[in-house]
Amino acid sequence: MPQDTHTKILATIGPSSATREQIAKLIDAGADAFRVNFSHGTHEEHRERVKIIRELEKEKGRFISILADMQGPKLRVGVFKDEKVLLKDGQRFVLDMLPEPGDENRVQLPHKEIFAALKPGDDLLVNDGNIKLHVEDCDLNHAVTTVKVGGYISNHKGVNLPNTRLPISAITDKDRKDLEFALELGVDWIGLSFVQTADDVREARELVNGRAWLISKLEKPSAIDELDEIIRLSDAIMVARGDLGVECPIQTVPVLQKKIVAACRRYSRPVIVATQMLESMIVNPTPTRAEVSDVATAVYDGADTVMLSAETAAGKYPTEAVKMMHNIICQVESDPLFFEMMRNSRKVPSKAGEADSITYAASELSCILKDVKAIVTYTSSGLTTFLTARERPYLPILALTPDTEVARRLVLVWGVKPFVNEDGFLNYDCVEDVAIKIAVDNGYARSGDHLILTAGFPLNAKGRTNMLHTVYIK
Ligand code: PEP
Repeated sequence: MPQDTHTKILATIGPSSATREQIAKLIDAGADAFRVNFSHGTHEEHRERVKIIRELEKEKGRFISILADMQGPKLRVGVFKDEKVLLKDGQRFVLDMLPEPGDENRVQLPHKEIFAALKPGDDLLVNDGNIKLHVEDCDLNHAVTTVKVGGYISNHKGVNLPNTRLPISAITDKDRKDLEFALELGVDWIGLSFVQTADDVREARELVNGRAWLISKLEKPSAIDELDEIIRLSDAIMVARGDLGVECPIQTVPVLQKKIVAACRRYSRPVIVATQMLESMIVNPTPTRAEVSDVATAVYDGADTVMLSAETAAGKYPTEAVKMMHNIICQVESDPLFFEMMRNSRKVPSKAGEADSITYAASELSCILKDVKAIVTYTSSGLTTFLTARERPYLPILALTPDTEVARRLVLVWGVKPFVNEDGFLNYDCVEDVAIKIAVDNGYARSGDHLILTAGFPLNAKGRTNMLHTVYIK
């Protein structure tokens, strides 16, 4: 079993990691959670992968979180007669609604919303931003562009419009079907791609209706404009650096990463840093020094979770990539500077309520009281645990909840080890004993140690945290 870390690892499942044996290896290497990506694969494949993860969860005796990532409104060109063409700098190239296969002069762009929103002077980016088209003239059915940066363009390549807010929902018809299917499978988190506005999150919340928690993927500049509101409405956030680095100038990605991670902490929402973290491990058994530094930086920034994409989904070294990520996290978390940085970046929450005050005080107490080994949070909704994690205490946060679904979801949160237990919620007299039993049985504490307890009273009342208590283990 890999060493417990505060920062969690989310690994994407794909052809390189879809078998029971491969998924078991990823768990043993340190993966805490898995992403099933609805941009790829069939429903039957996703069903099988979720089934395997749930079986392994039982076998390994620890909760595993599953994120179903929706494709969202990814815009794509149509097809070419010869599959691909080379666009040269300065040439004219037309995008239109005609279904005929394209050539070096034109191709279909089957999204009428794009033509409705385009204006002369806008730029379109194709193929992960490698090709840049500048719009000279356009109407509701076509756009005449000049190729500013040329290159090969092939069938179904992705199109990004960085500075254009499109009148489309972040949830497509495909997403609606995928969403219902994923919820039937009992996934814990839904990933919402290409969120443009807070209204996109509101719409998704209505659809999901509490059946899972919602991760808004930040990859559009317009989402950054509404950052605070989007974070408040979401259960967690993903810094989706792949598309973010196409939609925004690439050099702004590290700046946005820091800004988003800090904002998520302010609002006590978990945040995932994603994409190209150990990219070269898709083909090599060891990463570049720069990639190692990138993972370490995300951990030092205070990310709750770091994600592997193609490294585990389609790479040659999926297990090695998880092991490497785990080793980097262990190294950073064993640096005394890390917890000093976490502590120095704590702020007394503005407009602190009962719950904020208790969880802030619990973290303070953990630095003063001798031999404290864990903070135990009794939580029905997960709120108390989110607030405790925001304080980034150096101790493990043992989250006790009566609800298996909440326990699974909390796996993605910084420092949290979830446990399901009902007894402590039914009878106030057991609160101490249950906390001690769970901490001791799972190796977090022993005789002579202290625990710090937070809970809401009356027990089982959702959304209240008003009790702070220290326990000495005799
Ligand atoms: C990203 O763009 O960084 C991302 C995580 O999204 P996806 O992998 O779904 O394209």
